[in-house]
Amino acid sequence: MNSDAVSSDRSTISRERLVSDLEKLGVQRGDLLNIKVSLKSIGHVEGGPKTVVDALMDMVGPEGTVVTESFVSAYPLPMSKRNAMKISDRWTPSYAGAIANAMIRYPNSYRSLHPIQKFSAVGALAEELTQSHTAASYAYDVLRKMCEMGGHNLKIGRDDKVPGVGTTHVAIGYYLGLTQDRPAFGVNYLNEDGEVVTFERNWAGGCGFGFNKFIPLYRDAGAILGEGQIGNAESKITDMKRTLEVEIDTLSKDPAFFLCDNPLCDSCRLSWEFSDGSRWILAYRRLITSPRAFFRRVLRKLMR
Ligand SMILES: [Zn+2]
Repeated sequence: MNSDAVSSDRSTISRERLVSDLEKLGVQRGDLLNIKVSLKSIGHVEGGPKTVVDALMDMVGPEGTVVTESFVSAYPLPMSKRNAMKISDRWTPSYAGAIANAMIRYPNSYRSLHPIQKFSAVGALAEELTQSHTAASYAYDVLRKMCEMGGHNLKIGRDDKVPGVGTTHVAIGYYLGLTQDRPAFGVNYLNEDGEVVTFERNWAGGCGFGFNKFIPLYRDAGAILGEGQIGNAESKITDMKRTLEVEIDTLSKDPAFFLCDNPLCDSCRLSWEFSDGSRWILAYRRLITSPRAFFRRVLRKLMR
């Protein structure tokens, strides 16, 4: 990377500019960061997604660690022959976007051994966090450990573009043990003995847009450590241990707190025992909102 290449074009964002913005936001040397990034929101980054990771590593230094989710697609069970051929491994591309895929390929990066909820990490704690995250672990166990290790969440992009701060999953699935009624999905992967085995999804998910309801509570609890801009993107740093505490505290009083307000959200209206919708009302709302989408959906379900 050419360090003299500070562009005069305001629409191009250089590595140096990113480092300076990260410093202003409050990222420090040695930080353990869980990043959630909307690359598009930053603007046109010189060199693309890898430059963002370069800038993060410049900022945290060799004693720091950068982690991100780089989850892979799961398929309906029983698996079709075609999906059964797809073996999830270290290099399976992620659906989570450009930064996730840049992290997978980043020099000296590590990736979770978990067959579906794979985290990618670079830096001092990368190996420890990912190689202990296996098919036997809770899906978001990397984030749970990061809460205990003093980790911070760095969100680059507005809340409506990049929902949640990561720890809400840990509160829902690990500490409160909430369960969700979802169709059976899984992937094939190679186990320790090199045999192809099917791994079935075994955790509760949740709707990120509902997770944003916690943000005012994080603010009141002092869990937001810094707010500012990275390039053109509104950004914030939160303390993972404190956001988790806020979530556990709130959800133990009201488990339905994280449901979003979208009348068409399947996850929030139907999939939890405290969900507030009915399948028929939801289908009716879909039919009158967009008949074409409704029939395409029905057709997709029938074909599966
Ligand atoms: Zn929802």
